[in-house]
Amino acid sequence: MNVEGGCFCKQVRYAATVKDPMKVQCHCRECQYISGGGPNYSLGISEDSFTYLQGAVTSYRRADLEAPASRDFCPHCGTHLASSTPKIPGVIWIKVGTLDHPEMFEKADLAIFMIDKQPFHDTPTTQSAYERLPG
Ligand SMILES: [Zn+2]
Ligand SMILES: [Zn+2]
Repeated sequence: MNVEGGCFCKQVRYAATVKDPMKVQCHCRECQYISGGGPNYSLGISEDSFTYLQGAVTSYRRADLEAPASRDFCPHCGTHLASSTPKIPGVIWIKVGTLDHPEMFEKADLAIFMIDKQPFHDTPTTQSAYERLPG
């Protein structure tokens, strides 16, 4: 399935081919800053099938964390578009809210970092909920 998406101000656009995606909701404390407080919904696909079509993103990596995620932002409107982590090489995580048709996500298959879940977060509908990461 081919999908497209982009940031809030429309300066950054991307395209991706989605095949056997990992559909994750992450409750980690870091994601809460970026999501507005809730879990962060991501579609994990092969990084080879993702490409920026237009605009240049700023990538941010926290210097004080061991093996930090790299997070791509629009430098104009601040939308967080995608991330990658050295813990899962070769995978790019598209932030579902940036898809032109976010409804294609349907639901998360995996809930991770439940250890950081806030009392106001809804309980995940998936049975696969992990304190941190699976495995
Ligand atoms: Zn933007
Ligand atoms: Zn997270």
